[in-house]
Amino acid sequence: MPRDSELAVVLVYPDLLGTYGDRGNALALTYRARARDLPVRLIEVAPDESAPESADLYLVGGGEDVSQALAWETLKAEKNIIAALQGGATCLAVCAGFQLLSREFRDRDGDMVAGLGLLDVVCARLPDRRAVGEVVAEPVGIPGLPTLSGYENHQGNAVLGPDARPLGRVTRGLGNGDGQTEGAVQGNVVATYLHGPVLVRNPALADHLLETVAGPLAPLPDEAVERLRRERISAAMRSEEKENSGIFHKLRAIGGRMTKARGA
Ligand code: GLN
Repeated sequence: MPRDSELAVVLVYPDLLGTYGDRGNALALTYRARARDLPVRLIEVAPDESAPESADLYLVGGGEDVSQALAWETLKAEKNIIAALQGGATCLAVCAGFQLLSREFRDRDGDMVAGLGLLDVVCARLPDRRAVGEVVAEPVGIPGLPTLSGYENHQGNAVLGPDARPLGRVTRGLGNGDGQTEGAVQGNVVATYLHGPVLVRNPALADHLLETVAGPLAPLPDEAVERLRRERISAAMRSEEKENSGIFHKLRAIGGRMTKARGA
């Protein structure tokens, strides 16, 4: 059923929080809404602009350490976004966004600081390594989703408290840093370490977010996306086999050190 009012989607600080094409999450959401005749408006908010409090859906992307710190300076005082999310608006937070929405996260100076506290999660840092590569996870936090596919590059080590549940159980990659759980779900906030962009690779997750604000949606099969998903999931599994061979392990360690030096 088409809604009579327009769905408002806010993309938070895309110039600072948009690493690995996370802007694509906004494109996937708006595309999938319009394909169901849902009128939707995308509002991009820059750090020097004030965000609407009454939007339906907020997207907070990932960012390198420096841009994450810049985004945090503004986000922590952004009363409208905080009020909207405390009031139950739907949110997808990716990687740096995941950390900023947590109870505490470790900043680039290595200090633990209070985050927005919308997720019962403490994001410490992995000692001496980054989580880099393809991720495959079986969804556990949201019923009915198929296998999750994505790409991670972070140093976060997210520990979930009792009010948050994991989005997935990792079968490939590090996810929250323990190689066991991936992401967090609490109320209408979905957080993940997955780029890809995650809503392009996992359109069922995009539909879940839309359904929290628009109700049940008709299926929207897309053979190209299904091919992409199959290819990425089997590439992730193949790379795991290779990784067990010695040379690949060494190359990954060198790659991890180089990425760490860049502070992605
Ligand atoms: N800067 C954060 C980290 O390295 C988040 C990275 C990201 O968003 N990809 O952990």
